[in-house]
Amino acid sequence: MSVVELINIEKSYSLKNHEIPVLKNINVKFENGKFYAIMGHSGSGKSTLISIIDGIEPYTSGKVIINKKDLSDMNNKEKSFMRNNEIGIIFQDFFLDNYLTALENIVFPMTINDKYKKSANKRALELLKKVELENRSNHFPKELSGGEKQRVAIARALANDPNIIIADEPTGNLDEENESKIFSVLKRLSQEGKCVIVVSHSNEILKYADVFYELKEGSLIEK
Ligand code: ADP
Ligand code: MG
Repeated sequence: MSVVELINIEKSYSLKNHEIPVLKNINVKFENGKFYAIMGHSGSGKSTLISIIDGIEPYTSGKVIINKKDLSDMNNKEKSFMRNNEIGIIFQDFFLDNYLTALENIVFPMTINDKYKKSANKRALELLKKVELENRSNHFPKELSGGEKQRVAIARALANDPNIIIADEPTGNLDEENESKIFSVLKRLSQEGKCVIVVSHSNEILKYADVFYELKEGSLIEK
């Protein structure tokens, strides 16, 4: 059963009076329990595609269905609820809050809604354990290595137990050893049943992906 579905998605950016076509007629379905890799040259539209799935970037035409709901039927509040509960997002630059500890960064998304509010601290510790960082809970981001920061960001993405995990170049700032570690953690999440969609430049991802796509000239091609 697909949890993310894009139907005839077209996207162009309008700049002054000219249009920049980025995505052309994208049709794809993503399921729970699989690790999907999306590769493509810089500027091929990978981040645009990811932001469309996240409900952040509007699309020119087509349909996006997330967990059976059509994005175009959702208002901003519903989209923001979806991002907090159904989709965990991981970025190249981590985007941790520098004034919060590792633990507090993970607790934060649980304080915004009721699901795990009461057990937020306990759950954040369990999530830190899951990414093998239980001994770093009181460290601030500046006291963590890049690879550790990204593992905290993954734990934070899992805070409200979303079934969809999306990562945009999650290892872009990491060395090879940390890259393998991050891909292994993401792989494990897919084996536990999550739908994991990862954009990457690195061929290393091919060792982990169940399904591999290339974004080229606006089209998404399964390899
Ligand atoms: P990738 O992540 O694959 O490097 P992007 O999705 O960031 O590619 O960008 C795809 C294309 O769209 C690029 O040519 C980029 O310059 C253009 N683009 C991205 N964001 C905008 C924007 N907000 N306005 C206009 N053009 C944009
Ligand atoms: Mg990008």
